Amino acid sequence: MTTPADRLQAVRDRIAAAARAAGRDPAEVGLLAVSKTWPAAAVRELAALGQADFGENRAQELTGKAAELADLPLRWHFVGQLQRNKAAAVARLGAVVHSVDRLSLARALGRVGVDTGRPVEVFLQVDLGGPEGELAARGGTDPAEVPALADAVAEEAGVVLRGLMAVAPRDVAPGPAFVRLAELAARVRADHPEARDLSAGMSADLEEAVAAGSTLLRVGTALFGTRPLPSPQDESHQSHGSQQPG
Ligand SMILES: *Cc1c(COP(=O)(O)O)cnc(C)c1O
Repeated sequence: MTTPADRLQAVRDRIAAAARAAGRDPAEVGLLAVSKTWPAAAVRELAALGQADFGENRAQELTGKAAELADLPLRWHFVGQLQRNKAAAVARLGAVVHSVDRLSLARALGRVGVDTGRPVEVFLQVDLGGPEGELAARGGTDPAEVPALADAVAEEAGVVLRGLMAVAPRDVAPGPAFVRLAELAARVRADHPEARDLSAGMSADLEEAVAAGSTLLRVGTALFGTRPLPSPQDESHQSHGSQQPG
């Protein structure tokens, strides 16, 4: 049995090794612990070890865990598909939203940002391609449409564009997809210098993501273990069936 401390150290070691191999400073690479399906107690354990950033992919699970853990100085992130009617609840928690794939969603988040006086930090989720039928389940904007969406989102009050986010396509080497993502991110950054982050890399492909320039890894399994139950979004990945967003 490994402990949370063992797993966190192992992930930090992997990040440091990947950064060194890429000639990067490990301090440039942030770690977001994706706690979906795990109880608040598991988050608390990791938080006690110094992990401050946590991510969820369902709005209700996020708000529930955030309430249970309100005594901790955590920073929440939302990494799943987000319905507009749940956007406000997520934004009110101060969560960073990694999955903005349409202007209407950015607008809904921005309204809360204006209202609270605390702009909502957002990433645009990019569809990196992959086997037919998978992408609808994974979400994201077509890369060709990303620069225009970035321009539009950057104009919205109450949101701050932090950069691009993507999930690597399944069943192909992730490296080339992450390189394409990083090239697109550089293009967006040329027009929007504030969009300096790249949210890419999960338990299985964090090395490739670091090599391509990721500044924020989203790691679940390697930190918490194999998820006890598939989350609805994971089920839709596996079955390519109907999705149950955020
Ligand atoms: C679940 C999830 C992760 C973490 O995946 P692991 O393979 O468990 O590390 C990262 N990003 C998103 C969008 C996820 O839904």
